[in-house]
Amino acid sequence: MPDIHNQSGLNDRPVDLVIFGGTGDLAMRMLFPSLYFLEYDGHLPDSLRIIAAARKDMTRDEFLGILDKRLQGVVGAGYLCENIKTHLYDRLSYQPLDVESGTGFESLAKKLRHKDLCDMVAYCSTAPRLYGQICELLEIYGLTGDTCRIVLEKPIGHDLQSCKDVNDAVGAVFDEQRIYRIDHYLGKETVQNLMALRFANSLFEPLWDANGIEQVQITVSETIGVEDRWDYYNDYGALKDMVQNHIMQLLCLVAMEPPTSMDADAVRDEKLKVLRALRPIPLSELAQKTVAGQYTAGTVAGKDVPGYLDEGKKPSNTETFVALRAEIDNWRWAGVPFYLRTGKRLPYRHSQIFIQFKGVPHSIFPDESNLSLEPNKLVIHLQPEENIKLLMMNKVPGLGRDATTLQEVSLDLSISPEARSRRRPIAYERLLLDILADRSTLFVRRDETEAAWQWIDNIANGWSALGMKPSPYVAGTWSPPASVELTERYGHDWHD
Ligand code: NAP
Repeated sequence: MPDIHNQSGLNDRPVDLVIFGGTGDLAMRMLFPSLYFLEYDGHLPDSLRIIAAARKDMTRDEFLGILDKRLQGVVGAGYLCENIKTHLYDRLSYQPLDVESGTGFESLAKKLRHKDLCDMVAYCSTAPRLYGQICELLEIYGLTGDTCRIVLEKPIGHDLQSCKDVNDAVGAVFDEQRIYRIDHYLGKETVQNLMALRFANSLFEPLWDANGIEQVQITVSETIGVEDRWDYYNDYGALKDMVQNHIMQLLCLVAMEPPTSMDADAVRDEKLKVLRALRPIPLSELAQKTVAGQYTAGTVAGKDVPGYLDEGKKPSNTETFVALRAEIDNWRWAGVPFYLRTGKRLPYRHSQIFIQFKGVPHSIFPDESNLSLEPNKLVIHLQPEENIKLLMMNKVPGLGRDATTLQEVSLDLSISPEARSRRRPIAYERLLLDILADRSTLFVRRDETEAAWQWIDNIANGWSALGMKPSPYVAGTWSPPASVELTERYGHDWHD
């Protein structure tokens, strides 16, 4: 039997994990499958108990029946084992409750073990407007204290002020060290590998600045539309739904100074400095440095799909695509463009960080041999594949009668082939383990979310002030032409 506590870094205190919103989409698609895999891999301590809480009045068995069906759909058949499910289900109970009326909290309190004996984690997987109320009720029923921590799903608010309101309400009950704000991109293996690449190697650091780097691009492209979340999405749009959190967190990891340690605050202090150094885009430059788009009917992966307005059946100026040129005002990054781009109904699904180094200052190779003398590039793929590639120039092997011919080759810096054959963990597995172990390095601090909103609000408010509307793009194409012009204007191209 493996020593699961040492393996996972968990301490010996038992934990009661309460998932508010335990019947919702996120819980069923991500949280419970992640808990299943953690169980499968032997990472969950025997003492962990899990309570799913939601409004629907049903028994534990009814809840398990629903969960069982969902797990079958999400966990691949090769991993679905009756004995693992039994272990997981033995830990699970269900508590009907209503956060708005407070009913059910008394029963919840009775189900939890005494806080002298057990830590409690309250995972808020409900609409963010309920987070403050959940905290208040936990306090009323004596369920807060030094041994309790709270997890908040994104988005925290829809602008700076509403973010502060949520943070104030939660902060009135929980100290900042006990608040875990999730950005699941930080749980991805490759994102953590980016930290290893930068800070466990000396190779890149001397080049990692405006002298060595020409441009950085961060792209999160999706083929899906807004599915059945039109109303939710329509209140946010691509800028607030994706850039404010995932993309800005990735930008921080690329741009931050080396932290003094992997300690949570050491890392988060450095990320915060990047966010605060982001140059606000003035009104006069919004048209050159930002592009908003909205998809119309088209074809994605051979399937006809409706336009955004057809799906919502009402008029809307919400952007489903956004591209930006960001600049960081500090010594390291002065003048280096960070192009950020995300959208729905694009030709294929991929998330990547692309870092282009400066070209060689002078080519010694005759013209005919180096038509394609390309600058070095580091490409970090986050999804669907997770890998890191370094593109370098190399000689085409062989004698040849002509001068040396060159080619671009790709060095694979990813995990070992043996590790690649293993199952790729869901990002939430890492994050759930860290929450259980009380490790907060991969979670977002209050000041980070607020600094990110401040930069985003400036753009969103600027668009409104100028009356800028998203340009249409046909679903299945790479966004409005203005997006191509955005990079070309500065002598660059998107790396697709
Ligand atoms: P959802 O499918 O609408 O589920 C909401 C959950 O909250 C349900 O379990 C619902 O229970 C419960 N709930 C609603 N009102 C309640 C109340 N008054 N008292 C107690 N429980 C209540 O939402 P979701 O998509 O899972 O999203 C949950 C959170 O995660 C949101 O903050 C969302 O922004 C965030 N998030 C979601 C995703 C995703 O892919 N879904 C991704 C990133 C972040 P009943 O069904 O019983 O009402």
